Amino acid sequence: MTELVAYCRFQGDAAEALARHLDAKRQHWDAEGFHVCCERSERELCLSLSGAGWRRLALAKARIAGEIRRLPGCATLALTWAGDGDPERLGHVQHWHVTGARLVTPHLRRVTFQVEDAELYAGDLHHIRLLLPQRPGGAFAFPRPCPAGLPVWPEGELMPVLRNYTIRAVRAGSDEVDVDFVLHEPAGPATAWARDCRPGVEIGALGPIGRPVSHAPRRILAGDETALPTILRQIEECPAGERIDAYVELVDDAERQNVTLPQGCRLYWLHRGELVDALRQLGREQNDVTLAYAGTEFSTSRQLSLAFGKDLGLPSTRFRSVAYWRMQGARAA
Ligand SMILES: Cc1cc2nc3c(=O)[nH]c(=O)nc-3n(C[C@H](O)[C@H](O)[C@H](O)COP(=O)(O)OP(=O)(O)OC[C@H]3O[C@@H](n4cnc5c(N)ncnc54)[C@H](O)[C@@H]3O)c2cc1C
Repeated sequence: MTELVAYCRFQGDAAEALARHLDAKRQHWDAEGFHVCCERSERELCLSLSGAGWRRLALAKARIAGEIRRLPGCATLALTWAGDGDPERLGHVQHWHVTGARLVTPHLRRVTFQVEDAELYAGDLHHIRLLLPQRPGGAFAFPRPCPAGLPVWPEGELMPVLRNYTIRAVRAGSDEVDVDFVLHEPAGPATAWARDCRPGVEIGALGPIGRPVSHAPRRILAGDETALPTILRQIEECPAGERIDAYVELVDDAERQNVTLPQGCRLYWLHRGELVDALRQLGREQNDVTLAYAGTEFSTSRQLSLAFGKDLGLPSTRFRSVAYWRMQGARAA
């Protein structure tokens, strides 16, 4: 991929401090996949960024602009990138087009998308934030970069609704991904969109976001229908030498999917409300080769945190229990 370069110039007192700060983090930027170069003359600082392709360069512009804006005295510093890159596009937002959709189970619709670069989703980061219309069939606008490279979001009816989802499958060769949408009631904007979507429709996807999948000789995965996409993908992609025990509670048996389990992996289907007790009963035989991850409704996720810590005896560094959704009317902690 072609190396692209963007640059901007600063004058005045902030230039010296800025150059020192950015120089000190040189290795950090290299690890993020772009290079920062500061050239100082008596009167000004020329800052240049280079990265492979417009997407990496756009990410670099936003990253460095955010860093600069957080420095003391630099919050309002004028910053305009010149040089290469696409002035209309943010690096972390892709345009996705629906190519197909089908029911996998009565309450799960799998939507297939043609994406710009599926390779970005092929690693251990499974989650994305979808940009969707506020109402089915409605329009929304994509965020655009300001001259500093930071996102500017549309306002009013054109502001997209943002919802977190999981990439269930990636076919990097054909730039296709699948997302499994739970069709719940009452339907929010994402569910309503997924229920009605047709081939050709465009949405946005921000990311991948969140933390990467953690690996360990033994993993316990737990969740409901919303976490099933990451649980099944982790099982399918489980490396040799690792073992996964997965516990999934479903609203009814019709939501079960056929799964081919790799050697050493186990999957237990449970009924709604049985998950917390099932994990508690595992007891304290877990040890430092065990990692646990859960994705459920908010109040279940709190109970699972307690189960992982107290009942299973796992140290807090070895488990995560994430609220994937929140029952309407559930009270804040
Ligand atoms: C990291 C992460 C990954 C996720 N991956 C997936 C995924 O791959 N597939 C998936 O379907 N969901 C996934 N979710 C959950 C999804 O983001 C939420 O369910 C989201 O609230 C759905 O948005 P909505 O617009 O349909 O409903 P909202 O507008 O958010 O909510 C509308 C109403 O629906 C209720 N509600 C929301 N979700 C559910 C549900 N699952 N069951 C019953 N009632 C519900 C709310 O309480 C509210 O009353 C994920 C969440 C996270 C944090």
